[in-house]
Amino acid sequence: MATKNIAYALTKPRELTPMEREMPSAGPGEVVIRVFYVGVCGSDAHFFETGFRGETPIPMPFVLGHECSGIIVAVGEGVKGRSVGDRVTIEPQITCGTCKMCRSGRYNMCEHVKFPSVPPWDGFLQRYIVFPAHLTFLLPDACSLRVGALVEPLSVGAEACKVGGVCVGKSVAILGAGCIGLTTLLMCKARGASKVVVSDLFQSRLDAALEMGADSVVLGGRPEAAEEIRAQLGGGADIVFETAGSSKTASMTVDTLARGGQIVIVGNVPGKTPIEFMKLMYLGGSIQTIYRYRNNFDMTIGLLAGNRIPADRIISHVFPFERSQEAFETAIGQKDRVSKVLIQIVDEGAGA
Ligand SMILES: [Zn+2]
Ligand SMILES: [Zn+2]
Repeated sequence: MATKNIAYALTKPRELTPMEREMPSAGPGEVVIRVFYVGVCGSDAHFFETGFRGETPIPMPFVLGHECSGIIVAVGEGVKGRSVGDRVTIEPQITCGTCKMCRSGRYNMCEHVKFPSVPPWDGFLQRYIVFPAHLTFLLPDACSLRVGALVEPLSVGAEACKVGGVCVGKSVAILGAGCIGLTTLLMCKARGASKVVVSDLFQSRLDAALEMGADSVVLGGRPEAAEEIRAQLGGGADIVFETAGSSKTASMTVDTLARGGQIVIVGNVPGKTPIEFMKLMYLGGSIQTIYRYRNNFDMTIGLLAGNRIPADRIISHVFPFERSQEAFETAIGQKDRVSKVLIQIVDEGAGA
C-alpha cells in the first residue's frame, strides 16, 4: 500500500500538479478509502478549463473529482456495516440533515451541502480520502470498481427518469448524447420505455447511443431535426430530456413534445432560453428540472448487480493517475469522442 497521499490538484486553469496531502484518518462514523477510479465529470472539466465556478474564481490548489470507487482501508469508531476491504462507491453529498429541504426528504436541495469538487470542498482525485461511512455503498461482485465509478453519473440519469415519469410504454426523446444523455438512455430502457430517440450534433455519439440501446437517432443542428424526432415517435415524445446543456436544445424541447408531455431539463443550460409557452400550453405540457439526485444509489447498484444495463460502454477513455493532466485535456478537447474519461489510480488487481 502506498504510504504517501498524493493528489493531482488544479493549480491554475488547465494545469494539474501532483502534490502531497495529509494522510487521512477515520474519525467517528467515517471510513478511509483507497481510491481506485475517479471519473471526470462535465463540471470538473469546466472548472479545469476556466478556473471559475460561475463568476467566482476557484481557490487553488483545488482537487477535482466526485465520481469514484475504491476500497475501505480504515474504519472509524461506531461505524456499522462497513469493514476494511469492502469495495465501495460514494454518494458525494454531505447534507446537514436538519434544514427544511433535508427534513422534507429533498436532501439534494440542502442549503448546507458539502459536495466534494465544488469549492471549498476538495474532491477525490487523490490516493486516499476520508468520508462518512453512511454515504458509502457496497459494490456487488458483478460490479467492477471501474464501473463502480459510474454509479454517480448513472444516478443523474436515474433522477431524470424518475422526475420525468418514464415507465413501460412511454416514448422518449433525449437531446444530447454525452455522458448524461447516455446514462439517461440506459435508465429509460431499464424502466421499460417503448421507444427512445436520441439526438446529438455528432454522429460518433449517435453511434454510441445506438450501441447502448437507442431505438433510433437523429442528427441534431439541422432545422428539420425536431420534426424528424416527432415523426419517428408518431407525434412527439411523452418525455423529452434536455441533456446537452444548451439553450438552443432547451428551446427545441417544446418542438419535440407530444400532447400532455413532460420536459425535463437535465443539462446545465447557461443563459436565457426562449420558450414558446403558447405552444407548450396547447400541448398541455410541463417543464421540470432536476438537481443532482436523491435516493438513487441503491437502485442503480441493483441494476448493475443484475447486469441489467451495459454501463461499461459509457467509458470511452481510461488514463493512469500520472496522466491526469492528459485525461482532463482529453475531456475538454475531444467532445465528439469522449463520453466518460476515467482516471485509474490503482490497478484493480492490486488489492488494498
Ligand atoms: Zn458527476
Ligand atoms: Zn440540509
